[in-house]
Amino acid sequence: MTDIVLESIRAIVLLGVVIYLWNAGKNRFEQFRTGWNFIIFGFVLLLFATFLDISDNFESLNRFIVIGDTETEAFLEKFVGYLGGFLFLAVGLFKWVPGVQGLSDLVDARTRDIQQVNEKLVSEIAEREQAEKVKQEFLSTVSHELRTPLTSIKGSLGLIRSGVSGKLPDELQSMLDIAYNNSDRLVALINDILDIEKMRANKMDFRMEPVEVVSLVEEALEANKGYGDEYGITFVKAVMEKEAWVDGDRDRLMQVLSNLMSNAAKFSSTGGRVELSVTCQDKDIRIAVQDNGPGIPEGFRDAVFEKFTQADSSDSRQKGGTGLGLNITRAIVEYHGGSIGFDTEMGVGSTFFFTLPILK
Ligand code: ADP
Repeated sequence: MTDIVLESIRAIVLLGVVIYLWNAGKNRFEQFRTGWNFIIFGFVLLLFATFLDISDNFESLNRFIVIGDTETEAFLEKFVGYLGGFLFLAVGLFKWVPGVQGLSDLVDARTRDIQQVNEKLVSEIAEREQAEKVKQEFLSTVSHELRTPLTSIKGSLGLIRSGVSGKLPDELQSMLDIAYNNSDRLVALINDILDIEKMRANKMDFRMEPVEVVSLVEEALEANKGYGDEYGITFVKAVMEKEAWVDGDRDRLMQVLSNLMSNAAKFSSTGGRVELSVTCQDKDIRIAVQDNGPGIPEGFRDAVFEKFTQADSSDSRQKGGTGLGLNITRAIVEYHGGSIGFDTEMGVGSTFFFTLPILK
């Protein structure tokens, strides 16, 4: 009786092992799958031998399980069941253990590869960052060094061409005008590059204070009148709120207006009108600059606010400009918590507008 209890326990344990190995085997890697299957089969044979053992001790069960005579049964139990079972277990382990070793070697090798690639990447990134830093520093130093002398050249040319030192011969006057316009373009380019650099380094300083937008727009109309005259454009007021307050940097907001107004003037045809409006919308103030220029081509609309982009690459020579203005403008507006956009229709004109949160 003790035998049958012990053998039953053995059978249950073996059955448990087989079921466990079978389930666990589903997630194993192919490499040691074969070894795993051998081990399972070994345990199945041991289980089989155990059942034959049990049937020996249990008369009534013997009737169902007995296969042939007792010698055949003994042969099946000892040779097929136990011997076969242990053999399969042994072969399974032989296959499985090197499989595990191979796998761990493979994992080691891959880890080393990844570490090497990682180290290479880190050093390449550091090199690039260093190169980028040197480039930015160079650009910034050159721009700073150029700005001061260029501003003074522009100032002097401006004074001479305005006639402070007496009337100039026509030919000299037109040459001075060209020199002045070019120095003006260079100063604008350098200022834009310095602004872009400041934005990149997060060093653009803003002096925030309550600003009244309607009077700011009126100031911008006055300040840019000369620019409009150059292009034969009149800046006019359209719909205007009585007053509208925002929290902002006066100079930077003036820069935004000047950029939108100068673009509108540059791209309008002579005799055109550019209308400025200030309207309140819910929690925002909307400032718009509307022109009757050529409109913005469909293929270029997505790139309007990107750096160094111009719809027509000949613009920088014919009309001046660098393709940086709107990029800087957008950054300034977004710093103020606003947004910028435009409506445009080819042959009809464009309206650039930006919103700023109303100061409570
Ligand atoms: P730029 O210094 O060349 O004016 P911007 O960033 O201010 O640079 O403008 C980028 C480009 O967007 C311009 O070169 C022009 O092609 C287009 N653009 C901007 N404003 C207008 C406008 N009012 N009408 C037509 N095209 C415009």
